[in-house]
Amino acid sequence: MSGKNLLEKVWDRHKVRTLPSGQDQLFIGLHLIHEVTSPQAFGMLRERGLSVRFPQRTFATADHIIPTDVVDRPFADPLAEDMLKALETNTAEYGITYFGPDSGSQGVVHVVGPEQGLTQPGMTIACGDSHTATHGAFGAIAFGVGTSQVRDILATGTMAISKPKVRRIRVEGTMPQGVGAKDLILSIIGRLGVNGGLGYAYEYGGSAVQQLSMEERMTLCNMSIEGGARVGYVNPDRTTYEWLEGRPYIRDYQAMVDFAEEMKSDEDAAYDDEVVFDAADLKPMVTWGINPGQVVPVDGTLPALEDLPEEERETAERAYSYMGFQPGESMDGRAIDVVFIGSCTNGRLSDLREAAKIARGRRVAEGVRALVVPGSQRVAQAAEREGLDDIFVKAGFQWRQAGCSMCLAMNPDKLQGRELSASTSNRNFIGRQGSPTGRTLLVSPSMAAAAAISGKITDIRKWEAA
Ligand code: SF4
Repeated sequence: MSGKNLLEKVWDRHKVRTLPSGQDQLFIGLHLIHEVTSPQAFGMLRERGLSVRFPQRTFATADHIIPTDVVDRPFADPLAEDMLKALETNTAEYGITYFGPDSGSQGVVHVVGPEQGLTQPGMTIACGDSHTATHGAFGAIAFGVGTSQVRDILATGTMAISKPKVRRIRVEGTMPQGVGAKDLILSIIGRLGVNGGLGYAYEYGGSAVQQLSMEERMTLCNMSIEGGARVGYVNPDRTTYEWLEGRPYIRDYQAMVDFAEEMKSDEDAAYDDEVVFDAADLKPMVTWGINPGQVVPVDGTLPALEDLPEEERETAERAYSYMGFQPGESMDGRAIDVVFIGSCTNGRLSDLREAAKIARGRRVAEGVRALVVPGSQRVAQAAEREGLDDIFVKAGFQWRQAGCSMCLAMNPDKLQGRELSASTSNRNFIGRQGSPTGRTLLVSPSMAAAAAISGKITDIRKWEAA
């Protein structure tokens, strides 16, 4: 009999029972909440006279609506102000720890959880946000949930969910210079498709994944949902333990390591599917369309409609018409208007360091608006201690305060009109960055920084860090 993978082990540990619907009732070890998807859930609790079952397992921060230039209260946007007030009231009333703007620890929920050490191996983690799989980088089973599930978890500490199948994505070898975790996940989504992961959890493994830092593993897991997989994870190892050691919520380091070792996939674990990538084949990637699967290597050409699978042609046609690009063109050399470096995909310290290496001693191109938005206040503080803010400001980037910012543009940071943006975020959907006609190209932090400097998409492999 074969061994078990991490998802099966964690699931077995957290399953309360099988429900009549056939779904499982799963215990949720950590519930992360933010200002956008929690107010209605708290409203539903009040309507039914329920309380929060495990306030000590529930943590809140504010991210989506936070302005990143002036964070003075009340916010200029009354809707944003109302949302933040509701979060403040709800967390105070129900005894939930809240990392607010005055705490020095506020930030994007998927940056804050790990940096506090709340995210730990072998946990089940839920959050009312699509990119919750980020926490899978630590060997947790983490998924995004809707508002009614936020309510269920608040009220009971459990939720109804179907167990996914597991696809092992093995990446072997060493990634070439200029290629990073963002390029890897874009390549995976490009090959398997935006719906390829439906019904699956992705387990990322192989020698190339083992070589990734924790921050790179977070980038990788973060975009699992863009490939259709609600859950993505990496088995915990020494890199995981070293990154977590000493973080505020790691109360018993050895117990955490012991549990992680018990939960990680067995050597002989069975999988429902396996896909293998050769890391040496990877290149810096750029999206060209309106979903993250519409992606090419920076030196590649945009696909002809007839070369695409039948089911992808209609979306590709829509993408060409919306973006104003043509099959056969290259993304290399395409002029951009805006650069956004940040988000839960690429707003961590290592991302900012990577971008700063390119920005150091150079200047943002005339006419380009370039924003650097740290993923959290702690990331901002660490970056400022290293002088990264100085490097960016001297180069002509705007150094902003922590939040989601132009990833989703629920705050004042928005594209204008048809502006074309090189962005380190995770979604290039129509209107995603705040303008109904704005256009987004997803890239890595170094590619984004190089685009800001040169005013166009450029192959990072030709650049030398200053
Ligand atoms: S940074 Fe973007 S993807 Fe991440 S939580 Fe915020 S809005 Fe969602």
